[in-house]
Amino acid sequence: MTSSPAWRRHHVRDDVPAGAEQMWRPTHAMRYRPDTSPAYARAVDWTDYDAALFDLDGVITPTAEVHMRAWDQMFNDFLRDRGVAEPYTDADYFTYVDGKPRYDGVRSFLASRSITLPDGDASDAASAETVSGLGNRKNDDFEQILKTEGVAPYPGSVALVKALVARGTKMAIVSSSRNAAAVLTAAGMIDYFPVIVSGKEAGERGLPGKPAPDTFLAAADDLGVPKERAVVFEDALSGVQAGRAGDFGLVVGVDRGVGADALKQHGADVVVDDLEVLA
Ligand SMILES: [Mg+2]
Repeated sequence: MTSSPAWRRHHVRDDVPAGAEQMWRPTHAMRYRPDTSPAYARAVDWTDYDAALFDLDGVITPTAEVHMRAWDQMFNDFLRDRGVAEPYTDADYFTYVDGKPRYDGVRSFLASRSITLPDGDASDAASAETVSGLGNRKNDDFEQILKTEGVAPYPGSVALVKALVARGTKMAIVSSSRNAAAVLTAAGMIDYFPVIVSGKEAGERGLPGKPAPDTFLAAADDLGVPKERAVVFEDALSGVQAGRAGDFGLVVGVDRGVGADALKQHGADVVVDDLEVLA
């Protein structure tokens, strides 16, 4: 793949493994894209399908900002406690944290301040003075921000979900994030999805993540719908690849910045920049 423009690289998620899904700021979702016209999107006939399998971050909710704020809160609390005068800033986020697996981001930023902590491991308490402990603390901060402030789902996505509920289409969330349930709860959307296959469930069930199709296939299976009757919604290249690899009835690419052409090349049958056109 060719390198991404700077604005895109700056909004890659920080808490999923390298190569897993990516997302961007909602402002990019508002960009006008004449090549993804509603007329084209209306070619989707919902009578052909019985299930809709949605990625979460970037498809149902704009969640990148919340991750950035959680990093800010965690690192600045940590630095203050250690008496370090120079604060953590958004520039540090883009230089040391963005796009990396969570613990790698912690280690990288600490190294920039000449701070070395033991790695610890994922089971470390959030209070532990270890790389893993700080990563877990960031995750707690993320969940806390979600709980206190919530996150507003994309209005167009809510419109489609409601239309599909009215039709009786079965729905699932398939997300690499381990925070999927917390995000859905904060967005007030969790009751729409009887099946959630998040990073947590995938780990427990031994399912490989996207671009492997296994998590989407598991979700269709859990809903009792054959893959040919299921539609996949994804904003990441690895996600539309998973949809294509799983031979689903339809793969809808949701263009939040990655680009319609790239989404199509990686497996999207249809590309939209907002889900409302499919409602
Ligand atoms: Mg996504």
